[in-house]
Amino acid sequence: MIPLHALLAFAAAHAATGPATQPPFDGLAGQASSLRAADLRVASVGFRIAVSGKRFCPNSYPVTGLLLHHLAEYDAAGQRIQVDRHQIDRGPGVLAAVAASPAALAGLQAGDVLIAVNGGSFTDPRRIAKEADDDRRRRMIEADEALIETALRLGPARLRLLRDGKEIETTLHAVAACPVRIRLAYSRQPTAFSNRGYVIVTTRVLELIRSDDELAVVIGHELGHHVLDHEQRLDDQKVPKGLLRGFGRNASRIRAVEAEADRFGLRIAAQAGYEIAATAGMWERLAKSGWRGPQLFRTHPSVSARVRMIQEVLAETR
Ligand SMILES: [Zn+2]
Repeated sequence: MIPLHALLAFAAAHAATGPATQPPFDGLAGQASSLRAADLRVASVGFRIAVSGKRFCPNSYPVTGLLLHHLAEYDAAGQRIQVDRHQIDRGPGVLAAVAASPAALAGLQAGDVLIAVNGGSFTDPRRIAKEADDDRRRRMIEADEALIETALRLGPARLRLLRDGKEIETTLHAVAACPVRIRLAYSRQPTAFSNRGYVIVTTRVLELIRSDDELAVVIGHELGHHVLDHEQRLDDQKVPKGLLRGFGRNASRIRAVEAEADRFGLRIAAQAGYEIAATAGMWERLAKSGWRGPQLFRTHPSVSARVRMIQEVLAETR
């Protein structure tokens, strides 16, 4: 999804990551298409690890590989362009479909606009865009996406959509995957994190990683925090949020969850067929590039510890 003004609220809420930067997205065609490619890259890697790694997750969730964008995610100029070009004032727009995913198999393509799912319509996009409260606006967008997910829990969903001015119908299937939505946020902050059922990776991270293998390990690590309920565990242990996390007894607790998330991420990335062997130095490199998050602290395993962990995970999967 671009530009995800809505999800940037997560970055702002993530105290340890520092101040959020404003997305300079201006709706220009060139930038929009490169962002769409970046969105699709994150969604594709996320789709692959969430589907192939579902045995590592306690419950499952219907995923389709469908990436939507919403009128309310654009500034005023971007909204005019998106309405002219893609009519996303009629419903959620299809930004992209992950290759070979159920969305692609249903024939959904960039530029389509969703009008109804199983006969039920979406919230008027203009009403969402007019909502001044960031949090309420984000929840309205999430509710629209949840309509599709709810329908898919019952089986294939009937989608009515608008393409080139004509209404057509298609049937969307889903596959079971780890219960998480993996999204790209437009931000200069080099960080990734999980929050309320989402794993968020920023555009800055995509500039710093060297391969999809590394991206898979980053996403897998954050997915691990989510699936293993680390935030809850740290809350139960009364570990404070923010900078104090890196000190004293807190540090060892953070170190424990970070190591767990590392192992989970490596396992799930390897399961999905990514080459994890070459990713040992990645976190160190990200830390040197100003990575925001727990990896910044001394709480993170060293490169040699990571090499050992990678060897262990590879030995397990062999
Ligand atoms: Zn972590």
